Amino acid sequence: MEKTTTVAVDSRVEVFLHDGPKKLFIGGEFVESLSGRTFDTTNPATGEVITTVYEADKEDVSRAVEAAERALKGSWSKVTASERGKLLWKLADLMEEHAEALAQLETLDNGKPIQETRHADIPLAIDHFRYYAGWATKIHGEVIDNSAGVNLFTYTRREPVGIVGQIIPWNFPLLMATWKLGAALATGNVVILKTAEQTPLSAIYLAELIQEAGFPEGVVNIITGYGPTAGAAIVQHQRIRKVAFTGSTEVGKVIMQQASSNLKRVSLELGGKSPNIIFPDADFTKAIPGALMGIFFNQGQVCCAGSRLFVHKKVFDNVLSDMTSYASKLKQGPGMDESTRIGPLVSDKQFTRVSNYLQRGVEEGASPLTGGQPLDTNGFFIPPTIFADVQDHMSIAREEIFGPVVAAMPFDDEEHITDIIRRANDSEYGLAAGVWTTDIRKAHKVAHALEAGTVWVNCYNAFDAAVPFGGYKQSGFGREMGSYALELYTQVKSIWINLD
Ligand code: NAP
Ligand code: MG
Repeated sequence: MEKTTTVAVDSRVEVFLHDGPKKLFIGGEFVESLSGRTFDTTNPATGEVITTVYEADKEDVSRAVEAAERALKGSWSKVTASERGKLLWKLADLMEEHAEALAQLETLDNGKPIQETRHADIPLAIDHFRYYAGWATKIHGEVIDNSAGVNLFTYTRREPVGIVGQIIPWNFPLLMATWKLGAALATGNVVILKTAEQTPLSAIYLAELIQEAGFPEGVVNIITGYGPTAGAAIVQHQRIRKVAFTGSTEVGKVIMQQASSNLKRVSLELGGKSPNIIFPDADFTKAIPGALMGIFFNQGQVCCAGSRLFVHKKVFDNVLSDMTSYASKLKQGPGMDESTRIGPLVSDKQFTRVSNYLQRGVEEGASPLTGGQPLDTNGFFIPPTIFADVQDHMSIAREEIFGPVVAAMPFDDEEHITDIIRRANDSEYGLAAGVWTTDIRKAHKVAHALEAGTVWVNCYNAFDAAVPFGGYKQSGFGREMGSYALELYTQVKSIWINLD
């Protein structure tokens, strides 16, 4: 009999999933939505309903804003920077205690392999809070010597923006929640965060830990609901001063327009079609697994996925043959099976979208070397797919597919990198890029010439809380992580004192 490697469901997950519809976290309490409406969240590996959550609407957003405002003017304003840091650190400790439950919930709700949630999503999320816990005590203004008058004393303060709205996607639900919350809370803001409708569970679980950590009520409000209702209500609310969004470029544009009603500050982390370039002098023992991981990690549902693979023509056939042989052996199955390397896509909608691209690729003349056909099961499974015979103008080479599908294209200039740079930059997007070469001069030259917010050389998908991440062009603006994210959540006040 084959040894089962399916994970036994953690008892905390059982309790969490079976104590009734999951509530909104507003003003430090778990509450039903005012309308009483709920919606289901499903397990993408089976298509079955996991549990039900309350559906927030405009009125619930208003209620959250009132709670946040009370906290901003009251209890939170009395919490010192050091105490804010301690709260974030305590939250990270609690997440560590609950790491297995969080990993399982994320896998059940999103579909991604438990090996990834245990070893990437959850540890990165915990580390993110620890990193920003350290920043809380290091945010300060400066004394500025001015030339306006000898007895005029000037200094600046870095103050929180105030009430902040945050809208996150479903591809890394908990990690995206922490990317948003960490910098905002370290800098003393209050938050209303909306999860993606497909993946509400890990953030609700996080809300329980936020409550346990002892954040004053109303500092963090987490709501579950739909984009055009709850999401739009956040973007349009007149007392929310900033909106931070991660998701599609299409919705990013709507958000920017709607945020103009009260000139909210906006930061947008949007889509991508990132080029990954393999030069003939690359170390292939690193480049081949790197290119595979660059596209197939998280079933390709990654904004910075290396979805346009440019391989020098001298090595194209060999690289593609090795990649194909490896990709066709990647074990695909339910995320809760420890041996699974590729899980299902997040939803029926995403499955249909990616399936359509598979069909479109073939219609446009590309050839799948492996994959190419959706699996005929109840879950939302698409096999890792590598397309060859791709032209730069094809939709599979230009549009964000957000699935395990790579468009591989040869290039042939090596010494003069102008042409490959032009092709790599010929995109509306500019989120990330990869370069594989052992020539240090070429590595830097190419890295400087690429229009992307992140360039990985001889690695891909490397992340750290200290290193900024964000887009060029239509991949958005604003930088999350590192000291850069502090800019998003603070405003500078100049103070003049007349000493005469
Ligand atoms: P999406 O619509 O951009 O969703 C992202 C978030 O925005 C969700 O919380 C969503 O709520 C919310 N939202 C949607 N419409 C809104 C509106 N009018 N006002 C305020 N908030 C709104 O992304 P999707 O439909 O889930 O995915 C579609 C495509 O977007 C994917 O195929 C992929 O290409 C891209 N995408 C990119 C990223 C990224 O990290 N760059 C992440 C996810 C998706 P709901 O959950 O209710 O929709
Ligand atoms: Mg789900």
